[in-house]
Amino acid sequence: MSLVLQPTTQPLPDAERAARMAKPGFGRVFTEHMVTIDWNAEPGWHDGRLTPYGPFSVDPAMMTLHYAQSIFEGLKAYRQPDGSVATFRPYANAARFQASARRLAMPELPQEMFVEAVDTLVRQDQSWVPSEQEQSLYLRPFMFATEVGLGVRPSNAFRFMVLACPVEGYFPGGVKPVSVWLSKEYVRAAPGGTGAAKCAGNYAASLIAQAQAAEQGCDQVVWLDANERRWIEEMGGMNLYFVRGSGPGATILTPSLTGSLLPGITRDSLLQLAADRGYTVEEGKISVDDWRQGNADGTITEVFACGTAAVITPVGSVKSADASWTVGDGTAGPITMELRRALVDIQTGKAEDPHGWRHTIV
Ligand SMILES: *Cc1c(COP(=O)(O)O)cnc(C)c1O
Repeated sequence: MSLVLQPTTQPLPDAERAARMAKPGFGRVFTEHMVTIDWNAEPGWHDGRLTPYGPFSVDPAMMTLHYAQSIFEGLKAYRQPDGSVATFRPYANAARFQASARRLAMPELPQEMFVEAVDTLVRQDQSWVPSEQEQSLYLRPFMFATEVGLGVRPSNAFRFMVLACPVEGYFPGGVKPVSVWLSKEYVRAAPGGTGAAKCAGNYAASLIAQAQAAEQGCDQVVWLDANERRWIEEMGGMNLYFVRGSGPGATILTPSLTGSLLPGITRDSLLQLAADRGYTVEEGKISVDDWRQGNADGTITEVFACGTAAVITPVGSVKSADASWTVGDGTAGPITMELRRALVDIQTGKAEDPHGWRHTIV
């Protein structure tokens, strides 16, 4: 299926676009276009189109609004040194989008169609891809139920869309260690639940814990496993890494994908990049006590979180109901920053791409 191009007849003047891109924040400024593809049992995916960005009206009984059959993805397009534009591992996002769709009883968008939709939007709005350091064009593919009705069952109609926004660093203040709150009251995901799917409902359920973290004076919430409230899972919407030791002999550990963690593409890329650099990489279990003890006796030297939006963010301090401690000396560690640079350099075309992760669009 090819997308019908219906671009705006009144493109934004360059000066106005530059003004909007000057201080974009995160997810507040959108480009001039969007992509939409609809799905019905018959004829399947249809009416793929690129149109001007803008609102549309929905029926108040549209199923998504009531039962949250809704999934999304997040990836970025980066300006390369030669002026071209590339995304990072878009087929991995396409595959994860299919996995999320299966879990939420939604139709799977073919991977080629997912990538073509993203590419088409980036090609059309390429002038919106920033070239400043730490800036990029964030892409938000998502899909939601469009059937009208209140019966509880999978919708028989869906809409897939892609939006794009120029963004700067996710956390205000740049690469600065964050403080985290270990949530024992609330969990993000439970065995058999939707933790491994990138679905809207996971985020809705997480907001109260994030608010609690803020009340405790912390930047982010760290999620523990639902059964024992003992094993570290994730931080907010990012995966976590623990560094043991230092220098070339360091070991890098990330919680394994138990089914209640979101399989991050940044997480996966860092497993590879760390191994490429000779570090020992491990997927395993780490408990709250292991973390606290490891920081107390110095065996855990660095902790960082990773995800598309913020790339890598150091964790500087930890607080729970009965303890608080500092990670290392509370500043960004050398391995954290080495891996961050290695990943960003591949994404932005400043380094070789030995794993074929860059996907050049224009
Ligand atoms: C999206 C997401 C991540 C990070 O995934 P990336 O593919 O690295 O961006 C981690 N945890 C949660 C809960 C997420 O939603």
